[in-house]
Amino acid sequence: MANHLRRIDDIINQYDIKVLSVDVFDTVLLRTTRPELQRFKDFCRLQLKYLQLGDQVSLELFYRARLKAGREAYKKANLSGGAYEARYQDIYSDVADKFSSFILGDKQRFVEKCLSLELAREAAGLKLNSSLWHFLKKKKREGIRLIYCSDMYLDGQSVKLLLESISKQTLEEELIVSSDYQQTKRKGALFETLISFTHTVPGRILHIGDNFHSDYRKPQMCGINSYYFPRSPLWRIVSQARKRLYRSYLQMNGSLSL
Ligand SMILES: [Mg+2]
Repeated sequence: MANHLRRIDDIINQYDIKVLSVDVFDTVLLRTTRPELQRFKDFCRLQLKYLQLGDQVSLELFYRARLKAGREAYKKANLSGGAYEARYQDIYSDVADKFSSFILGDKQRFVEKCLSLELAREAAGLKLNSSLWHFLKKKKREGIRLIYCSDMYLDGQSVKLLLESISKQTLEEELIVSSDYQQTKRKGALFETLISFTHTVPGRILHIGDNFHSDYRKPQMCGINSYYFPRSPLWRIVSQARKRLYRSYLQMNGSLSL
């Protein structure tokens, strides 16, 4: 960790960096190795319990509806060539439509309740990358503008809530989140937005993050300095193995084919 921070500091000094853009998930907020699709099931279990759908709707059915809605949202995003990004609102509106006859109250209220339950559960599985966090605060005190930049189906307000909940601090920094801007880091357009949003020449911006493609290659292609800040090799090995195993389990029980 200390080596990473030293190298980031060197880049900041060498290129006279004015804006530091930082990825959120698995860079500042660290996840466990629990696979994303398994976490979705955790969220669904909680939502069914508190929204009192449990008697009428089975967990498996509710979970499959969420997987399907998420898959379709990302398929739409991929086919759009960068003109659409998956949004929580769209995913859960789809789920709500499927179970509309069981939902008490209006659809928007249902989506909002699902989101708040999900954020509470998501926060329980995150921890702060403390040394990076303190490093970033120090850089900010030294006059560098700090921005959080994330590709995420959750909106900026939700990402902000998670950062505040985990750091136990009020967040003053700005956020640029793909679902709000309908542009992504993985396609590169969100970095163009970062440049215009900050009114800073790309050569004075440094972006750091854990995804080699989205956080390292793509910003470079826009002229932005970048630094690849991956999770540990052991974390990546365990995470990949658990992801593969869980996908096989879902394939075997047919959850991915509905
Ligand atoms: Mg990340």
